[in-house]
Amino acid sequence: MNALPPRTSRIMHRGAVPPPIAVGGHGVWLVEQGGREILDASGGAAVSCLGHGHPRVIEAIKRQAETLAYAHTGFFSSEPAEALAENLVGHEPGGLAAVYFVSGGSEAVEAALKLARQYVLEIGQPRRTHFIARRQSYHGNTLGALSAGGNAWRREPYAPLLSPAFSHVSPPLAYHEQRPGEDEAGFVARLAAELEAEFQRLGPDTVAAFVAETVGGATAGCVTAPAGYYRAMREVCDRHGALLILDEVMCGMGRTGTLHAWEQEGVSPDIQTVAKGLGGGYQPIGAVLVSRKVRDAIAAGTGAFQHGHTYLAHPTACAAALAVQTVLREENLLANVVAMGERLEQGLVERFGNHRHVGDIRGRGLFRAIELVADRGGKAAFEPGHKLHLRIKQEAFARGLACYPSGGTADGVRGDHVLLAPPFIASPAEIDLIVERLGEAVDAAIASLP
Ligand code: PLP
Repeated sequence: MNALPPRTSRIMHRGAVPPPIAVGGHGVWLVEQGGREILDASGGAAVSCLGHGHPRVIEAIKRQAETLAYAHTGFFSSEPAEALAENLVGHEPGGLAAVYFVSGGSEAVEAALKLARQYVLEIGQPRRTHFIARRQSYHGNTLGALSAGGNAWRREPYAPLLSPAFSHVSPPLAYHEQRPGEDEAGFVARLAAELEAEFQRLGPDTVAAFVAETVGGATAGCVTAPAGYYRAMREVCDRHGALLILDEVMCGMGRTGTLHAWEQEGVSPDIQTVAKGLGGGYQPIGAVLVSRKVRDAIAAGTGAFQHGHTYLAHPTACAAALAVQTVLREENLLANVVAMGERLEQGLVERFGNHRHVGDIRGRGLFRAIELVADRGGKAAFEPGHKLHLRIKQEAFARGLACYPSGGTADGVRGDHVLLAPPFIASPAEIDLIVERLGEAVDAAIASLP
């Protein structure tokens, strides 16, 4: 499929065969060695929100690297870090008033979990040692984040190393979890009752926080919650004095059409994580956004968050992220996310709405997924051994399309799915091309099954 000859590599790549080498990028296009152009329909893993080669971001990185590449946060803050903090929480969105900069999503989740634990200590509630998260969630690959995650196959090899402080409740994935005859309000009430029951099982005064991806990303594919879900979950947390941590590493920073996905849910979190779209892939950066309540409790108590990494608030990364966020606002890209998101949804519905092997089309903004099923009526997943998702990935790549497929599970909890997260700058023609190439790839992959 890849016209270039196979190569060897000393890097421990994700697959047994080294991937082709990307040598360039412009707009929504990636260029591989040899010159072939690939339409970047998933921004890597929902990272490249401005696409590739944006001159303003490149200029900001250059300028910062020339001025001050790095200074340790044990001694100094930096101008780009302060400016980025002001940009993100200066107006205190949803009561989020402080920020902690790290280098990526998993680090942000680790920091968020530790921050929640420190908060309960600061307020004199040391018995709060438990975290409730959701099945079929992904919060990162470091051990704390993996403990929070509810992705069975990722957890399994490391199970002995994972923390028993985490338990998991059902995700709000209507396609699989909503029962026949159950309306949306009933579904939400049942999920809230399940969370309440989990608090009761653990002991309500032993729970530090409920952790959720506002719109579920990598594991189950663009899972939007039913209306009222987050208000109901927040109520349970508030009743028992637990924090709400929303992980927006993937769905945040504009991907769903508002800067924060929670803006569409009628709640705001006590602690929020962001990463991918924050720096748009130009530099590795993540952040924890912290509510006034949590910030003030720490300020009034021990005075500082007991955590740290060498590359906290890295000046060049902060300068890149500041440029990305400035472009996002000045070029009014959220409006394009909404418009192109609607076009993408419409295109997917037209192409796959009656497809016998597409069971669900879901998502919001430029964050959309299709779920593949062997049997639409029974919602049965394809045989996981067929690795349909990888076949789709290969067929799409052969057609010049990079998308983000994930595998189904043997227990039929969910089928293979393909996640799409194109850059916010995508044009109508590029959106249409994504749908066209994906349609061909899905049909070819299914036709190739034994
Ligand atoms: N949280 C969520 C919701 C994610 O989607 C991811 C990555 O996909 C992470 C955390 C981990 O981020 P990273 O891969 O940057 O460590």
